[in-house]
Amino acid sequence: MMTLKEVQYLIKHIEQGTLEEKEDLRNEREKKDNIQRIVLKLIEEFGELAENIRKNTRFNGKNIKGTIEEEVFDVFYYTIAIANEYGIELEKVFEIKDKINQEKYEREFSLEEGRENYKKKIYKKSEY
Ligand SMILES: [Mg+2]
Repeated sequence: MMTLKEVQYLIKHIEQGTLEEKEDLRNEREKKDNIQRIVLKLIEEFGELAENIRKNTRFNGKNIKGTIEEEVFDVFYYTIAIANEYGIELEKVFEIKDKINQEKYEREFSLEEGRENYKKKIYKKSEY
């Protein structure tokens, strides 16, 4: 299982084109240009996702090209890439934002209860 932290690390390095931990030498202009490039890609991918949802093209286990699965991944990828550009730790934000949402939508379970439940479910599955 991949954590959000791990996914962010991987996408950061995919975007960098190397696994090396190198200092970010870009100036503010270059950083801003890159964020704009990613946002344009994200919008493009949302368009592709919308098209595939309209056509209901699902992944059949063989070719992922031109499917909802592919485009959900692409949208996810560029969303993470934006978070990385701002140095956002999504696991932290998830917890902070979820507390607000839990109250706002009067949800009856906490994130912790949800995680506990998930672990129990996974544990049960591995018993079979
Ligand atoms: Mg795509």
